[in-house]
Amino acid sequence: MEKITENNSSHLVNFVPVKSQLQWDEYFMLQAMLASYKSKDPHTKVGCVFVDENNHQITMGYNGAVAGIDESQIPWGNDRTVPLEYQKYGYVIHSEANAISHARGNLKGSRGYVTLFPCNECAKLIASQRVGEIIYLSDKYRDTSENRIAKKIFDLAGIRYRQLILDQTLVDGLQTYLSTLLKNL
Ligand SMILES: [Zn+2]
Repeated sequence: MEKITENNSSHLVNFVPVKSQLQWDEYFMLQAMLASYKSKDPHTKVGCVFVDENNHQITMGYNGAVAGIDESQIPWGNDRTVPLEYQKYGYVIHSEANAISHARGNLKGSRGYVTLFPCNECAKLIASQRVGEIIYLSDKYRDTSENRIAKKIFDLAGIRYRQLILDQTLVDGLQTYLSTLLKNL
């Protein structure tokens, strides 16, 4: 065993170089993805998390019915040809609106991680809260008016937005890690 003396590198005793498996962007996007998984919406599951400049989580949410009501009593279908009272759109709160309404801290200057680019209604709330940046996974509704309005609101409010591409190897690595945790109980 190496003897520790003043002349050798005693500060390196028991030293193991360490590195996180995740960047902050990846870490929070995975949290938003996990939140989306909790949604009962059979067609579109969306999640988000808002974090401050110190990378501390302020709030998170997913799309769901109004808190406190029996979700089995509302229509979850997305058929827009029936009256609004028979559509999910009449009852469901988007993930960003849920997160903002339940936030305990100030969202000014925060970063919002969303699994889907916000709609115009949520963009209004996000801009009103003075959120600093939106990082999104999917922008599959980019050709809709709601999407263009949201981007216009963000541009006018000076809110930055950028897409985050998650590498498949990251998801595979996480899956392997989670399975390992379950095997070592
Ligand atoms: Zn929305």
